[in-house]
Amino acid sequence: MSYLKIDGISKSYQEGIHALKNISLSVEKGNVVSLVGESGSGKSTLLRIVAGLENRNSGEILLEGARIQNPKEKLVPGYDEIQLVYQDYHLYPNSTVEENIARPLLQYDKQYKDKRVTTILNLLGLASFKDKLPRQLSGGQQQKVAIGRALSLEPQVILLDEPFSSLDTIQRRELIAELKSLFGQLGITVLFVTHDLDDALQMTDFLVIMQHGKLIQKGNPEQIFSNPKSLYAGKLFSHLNPIPDKPKTYVRPSDLHLYKSSGLSVKIIERQYLVHYNLLTVRLNDGTVWKVEDKKRSFEIGDRAFLKWEEEKEISFK
Ligand code: ADP
Ligand code: MG
Repeated sequence: MSYLKIDGISKSYQEGIHALKNISLSVEKGNVVSLVGESGSGKSTLLRIVAGLENRNSGEILLEGARIQNPKEKLVPGYDEIQLVYQDYHLYPNSTVEENIARPLLQYDKQYKDKRVTTILNLLGLASFKDKLPRQLSGGQQQKVAIGRALSLEPQVILLDEPFSSLDTIQRRELIAELKSLFGQLGITVLFVTHDLDDALQMTDFLVIMQHGKLIQKGNPEQIFSNPKSLYAGKLFSHLNPIPDKPKTYVRPSDLHLYKSSGLSVKIIERQYLVHYNLLTVRLNDGTVWKVEDKKRSFEIGDRAFLKWEEEKEISFK
């Protein structure tokens, strides 16, 4: 029996328009899964349904075999065992860090509450900020408080809905690394939703890709990178260059080798300096425009270059 089972979930807010279409996914206990999809693909809807906070039209959510009820079936929607963390923190602005984290524990006795809050403050490295107000913290720290609040009820499952979108790159990277080790330590099961593949890759090695309310591919990043099942899944990882005379067949900019004398002749029309290589825009003789990684940074705009690649690196959708 799988631990968290999403079984054939469909949802329409308006008749005839699917926000989710027959989504199924099994997650083992303690696993961290990244759900990647563009805006509007149904990620937030799915998380709210998993949390029991949104009615579904069909399908079931099972946690350790127990059925999660729709909000309309339950007096108080949602479950302590499954906590959802939003992008925009939802902290109480006039409560301290400590009070925000203690908030879900209102009905518990003081001794338990104090102990739990201290544990969380320490876990998240927030002890020295406990008397601060949210506005006195950085975005990353505020998001940690929101995650701390979600952890206060000792949930079994945490659902993160684009939690890093309002953070800058460095804050984001640091927080992801910190949370990754925290989740591992707690053995908690996590569904992490993002539109950003880099964030997803930093967080996990299991990806689920969604598009237009459908689950289009799942697997580890290497598998999806080398064998994407759709153009969208392929393009999430990098630009894809269409190969002339080979319909629906592409090659990645990183799989092209540049030479000065033999191969497919191209002209360099643009050059962009990036951290690990120059990204060249080149024009093929038939007018097709490609992107190529120039790792040695040896070509200039106006140069002619020659491209080769291994046939097994070609990606084809048929
Ligand atoms: P994502 O989180 O991937 O951006 P959402 O789950 O928010 O996607 O939205 C999926 C689709 O459902 C979108 O087309 C969106 O407009 C629609 N939708 C989301 N929430 C509602 C709502 N409360 N009422 C009507 N339509 C909604
Ligand atoms: Mg969303």
